[in-house]
Amino acid sequence: MLDKSRIEALRNAPVAPALHLIDGVARPASDGGIMEVLSPLDGKPLTTMARGTAADAHAAIAAARRAFEDGCWSGLAPAARKAVLLRWATLIERDALELAVLGVRNNGTEIGMALKAEPLSAAATIRYYAEATDKIYGEIAPTGDDVLGLVHRAPVGVVGAIVPWNFPLMIGTWKLGPALAAGNTVVLKPAETASLTLLRLAELALEAGMPPGVFNVVLGEGAVVGEAMSLSPEIDVIVFTGSGGVGRRLLENAARSNLKRVYLELGGKSPNIVFADAPSLDEAVKVSANGIFRNAGQVCVAGSRLLVERSIHDAFVEKLAAFSATMKVGDPLDPASAAGAVNSLRQLEQNLRFVDEARAQGRKVVLGGRRILEETGGYFMEPTIITGVGPDDPIAQREVFGPVLAVIPFDTEEEVLRIANGTDYGLAAAVWTGSLSRAHRMVRAIRAGVVHVNTYGGSDLTVPLGGVKQSGNGHDKSLHAFDKYLDLKTAWIKL
Ligand code: NAD
Repeated sequence: MLDKSRIEALRNAPVAPALHLIDGVARPASDGGIMEVLSPLDGKPLTTMARGTAADAHAAIAAARRAFEDGCWSGLAPAARKAVLLRWATLIERDALELAVLGVRNNGTEIGMALKAEPLSAAATIRYYAEATDKIYGEIAPTGDDVLGLVHRAPVGVVGAIVPWNFPLMIGTWKLGPALAAGNTVVLKPAETASLTLLRLAELALEAGMPPGVFNVVLGEGAVVGEAMSLSPEIDVIVFTGSGGVGRRLLENAARSNLKRVYLELGGKSPNIVFADAPSLDEAVKVSANGIFRNAGQVCVAGSRLLVERSIHDAFVEKLAAFSATMKVGDPLDPASAAGAVNSLRQLEQNLRFVDEARAQGRKVVLGGRRILEETGGYFMEPTIITGVGPDDPIAQREVFGPVLAVIPFDTEEEVLRIANGTDYGLAAAVWTGSLSRAHRMVRAIRAGVVHVNTYGGSDLTVPLGGVKQSGNGHDKSLHAFDKYLDLKTAWIKL
């Protein structure tokens, strides 16, 4: 349960200026630069943070390299690493509400979702990978009698993690958990508009007993700090969640430097497909609305394209608009809010531009489409539903990353498959149908990392998350995530 009085007590708590955490020590930027951190709740300054330079990134990378080479972490018995990680998870839970409120003030996610999806999910993720630490075995190869072939699994070295602003702790720990459990060291670059909680997480790691230099945080702009990381010959792997444009840049920089491996979790334009034979249209309405409008649509797997069978299209859209209109958008620290603030003014303006463009093309905005609560100074936007959308419209092809739903009617299974697969993305999808055979056919035919059936967006740590096509490569979550952080090494021994 959310403790409203504690939330209110934390609402205006002063936030200390944020410094880098490099080699276990808080440090300002090497040239003393700072940047203002604005809260999306009221558009006012929340605190300042170090504006990192390339020199700061190099200092963090050097600390991570030294910590990796000296074996203070990779050389520990797995059970000893596990003990530190488990302590860390407990500390994150201890401070969960403080972390959640700080995160909301920094990035605007509604508190109910923030508490669950951020600190509590982060603690669960760290615990999941901690428990796996001493359960990863190598292999003995089935060779002839005169040799022994061993397959070791060795940490890759220094991991550079670059993460976005929508769920910094959840997405951050999807990388940190398996990377650190596997014995690597990490340099993390949080997003400019959601750095504060990840920094706090790194302080808690030190408190849990993680040696200095194992987990470093460099604050600042992606184009400076992230760029320096992606060009560094001392980083072995870059793991990234964010936009396709930056993903391309990371691949280019890997090619230009040391051919480091680059794993990308990128955006989506995920189709949510409702057939007329869905078991419950009311359930489909409720879940579809939540699947696009929670966290103001700033969810990578958001169901941003609603494909509805024509025979139920009008009735479904009417119900959806009626339900969505009841979703309270506003103060994200009020537990009654179903959606909080858009993360930044820039993102809000971008969302509104997409709506204006669709309107100018003659598409119909049947709900929302405007900024609201402007008098608060915060960045709030109504849940927005656009109908009459063509499959090739910009609003059906490009990721908005906001509370904007494009609705497209269809007539047949073949047609809807063509539309569903007809974008550059392939992250998530859903199919609502009462036919088991159709559900399985669709799961097979839709090109996406996850296909939900008769639900949208549910998941837990036991299953991988990753995209196909231009939604990325590699996977977060589940034991498969270790593949990014462990190298296979063969020993071929003549007997
Ligand atoms: P973004 O790509 O602008 O930024 C992501 C991170 O990259 C930030 O930390 C940023 O500082 C950094 N960055 C920016 N320029 C860089 C550069 N030149 N070199 C290195 N790093 C750089 O994305 P965003 O706006 O923060 O997040 C929104 C995007 O993330 C959306 O496209 C969304 O779909 C995607 N996303 C994907 C997933 C997933 O799991 N697939 C999850 C969440 C968000």
